[in-house]
Amino acid sequence: MHFLNQQLNQEILRTDVSGMPLEWIDYRDAVRLYHTGQVAYACGSSLYRLFGGTNAITGQQSVLEIPTILSTIGHTHNPGNLRHDYVPPLNNQTLFRRDAHLCLYCGERFPANQLSRDHVRPLSKGGRDTWTNVVTACRRCNNIKAWRTPEQARMQLLAVPFAPTYAEYIYLKGRRVLADQMEYLLAHFPRSSPLHARLKAGMA
Ligand SMILES: [Zn+2]
Repeated sequence: MHFLNQQLNQEILRTDVSGMPLEWIDYRDAVRLYHTGQVAYACGSSLYRLFGGTNAITGQQSVLEIPTILSTIGHTHNPGNLRHDYVPPLNNQTLFRRDAHLCLYCGERFPANQLSRDHVRPLSKGGRDTWTNVVTACRRCNNIKAWRTPEQARMQLLAVPFAPTYAEYIYLKGRRVLADQMEYLLAHFPRSSPLHARLKAGMA
């Protein structure tokens, strides 16, 4: 099998048969899904054209079009579909992405290696390590705030921390989200999602 396209590192958005976003997969996963008959339908635009073997009888070479969004059958592993109270795992990559790489105290944007996870209510004061109690903070602001609450430190939070839904989490995890994938994911965000405004402002 050889490839027409050079950029094979673009991820494909996999959904279940009802169209709920499930996960990011690479072209190898997509090929496997096609070959095991698990593809329900293709969405989005064509991403890759992969050329397979030549049919001995017809002499025709097989071509597989891999789309940007792929709907699949079979049981899903989407925990967001199974449980209403599902909360995605918290990690710094998705947290910083949720907050558009802005320090939520000084409002400045920083590269990920200069950001930290601030516990709004400090752990030492009974605060928890959960999405709704953590914000992105630059190292300087985090040091100034230290073990205090924002009120005690007289620092104002620029946005209220929130726990992403599963679809929002999939977006936050995407390394490089193409325009049609973005549009698709946006349609699955809650209407009240703060990410709508952040994306419109080109912040995330
Ligand atoms: Zn700051």
